[in-house]
Amino acid sequence: MITKNNINDDINPKIIDSMKQFAESYAKSTNTYFCCDIEVTESVILGLSKNKQTFGAPLCPCRYYDNKVDEISLAYWNCPCVPMRERKECHCMLFLTPTNEFSSTRQTFN
Ligand code: SF4
Repeated sequence: MITKNNINDDINPKIIDSMKQFAESYAKSTNTYFCCDIEVTESVILGLSKNKQTFGAPLCPCRYYDNKVDEISLAYWNCPCVPMRERKECHCMLFLTPTNEFSSTRQTFN
């Protein structure tokens, strides 16, 4: 059985740290906030980190793709994806606008 912990063990901690740093700085620059449920935020970070490690790009982990390599080359769903960049729409709930009912007041992991 795959648990969050052993997924975590497979990912280089430096990649996880860099994705966290990206998320903190991007949240601040876009005036968005992390989810009130920190487990949501952490699982998205792990998914992004896993794709970054495996494919070299932080492909959005909350979607199904027939071919991740092809999808990465299109760049549409590389985080921050086009819907987020254009309309602040993050369906993974990593970046939430202040008025979102699930938004916290946190933009950092500490
Ligand atoms: Fe990143 Fe977009 Fe996925 Fe949100 S929906 S985690 S901004 S790729």
